[in-house]
Amino acid sequence: MMTFRIDKLIRPNVAKLKPYSSARDEFEDFDADMVFIDANENPNETDVNRYPDPQQRKIKEVLAKQKNVRTANILLGNGSDEVLDLLYRAFCEPGTDNIITLPPTYGMYKVLADINNVENREVLLSADFQPKVPEILEKADENTRILFLCSPNNPTGNSFSGETVEKLLKDFGGLVVIDEAYIDFSDKESWLSALAVYPNLVITQTLSKAYGMAGIRLGICYASEEIIAVLNKIKPPYNVNGLTQKRALKRLLEPEKVKTEVIEIKEQKALLFKELLEVSYVSEVFRSDANFILARVDDAGKRYGQLVARGIVTRNRTTQPLCQNCLRFTVGTPEENKRLVQALGEL
Ligand SMILES: *Cc1c(COP(=O)(O)O)cnc(C)c1O
Repeated sequence: MMTFRIDKLIRPNVAKLKPYSSARDEFEDFDADMVFIDANENPNETDVNRYPDPQQRKIKEVLAKQKNVRTANILLGNGSDEVLDLLYRAFCEPGTDNIITLPPTYGMYKVLADINNVENREVLLSADFQPKVPEILEKADENTRILFLCSPNNPTGNSFSGETVEKLLKDFGGLVVIDEAYIDFSDKESWLSALAVYPNLVITQTLSKAYGMAGIRLGICYASEEIIAVLNKIKPPYNVNGLTQKRALKRLLEPEKVKTEVIEIKEQKALLFKELLEVSYVSEVFRSDANFILARVDDAGKRYGQLVARGIVTRNRTTQPLCQNCLRFTVGTPEENKRLVQALGEL
């Protein structure tokens, strides 16, 4: 096992930073019966006339309870995309450091690497869509800061094997970010319970998928207290707006509703999986732990166009490595899935 020292990974300018302290940071008790004349707000009530809680404490308290972590292990962002960007900005020196991604995978890791002028080293997944551990460790050098593992992986839908992930957590010298955007659809365990074991583990989750709240933009990062403290230093003070905080809290307090929807989506996925296997021009349907299915067809461009003509928009992943002629189908409502199956049958 590598010895992990976070101070060796932080960008020097970030290590030196003192976080900006907003009005709402300095006086914390929001609900107290006080006269708030510290932030130049309009005092007239509009429901959103006050700046939001920069630390989103109510949401974090609920998450901490539900996920069995401490609030100091949580950072919230304007979608996971902001959380991922903060990781680059805290740990990757532009023009010097590099990160490793494993295509085919979520496109934002590369986009953010390009935006932050950080070299993206790619190691393709194996033919069965698993990380190739020796190749990954071989690709890393003293400037490699982050390894992105997306599990369940987008667009392939599979989860990475526990053994493989554990090996990487032990032997990779930088941060290992496990993107669990689809974890709520999976029967496999989250890596959250391993937070205490691996100081280099960072887990991201989101309210955009299973929780049905892509429109409010709320991403979640779980990591050691030290890593969270670094990210807190560089995040914009009010990065999660007040409307988002309200709606997120309400949704998080109805976990049974979310669970019911997830169960229905998983049932629909199983149906769709079977239906896809029956389609004559579908040659391969990949097992999915997420809320979408990747399938290989005879000609992805042609089938994509035919489906659009029938009012159905899928995601053509054919340009991704290992995904030649593959379309990705998100599981919709029962009615939407019926429409898809009918259209597939007509082509
Ligand atoms: C959809 C998705 C997300 C969600 O990003 P948000 O910014 O939270 O909406 C994150 N990671 C992966 C792999 C995704 O597919």
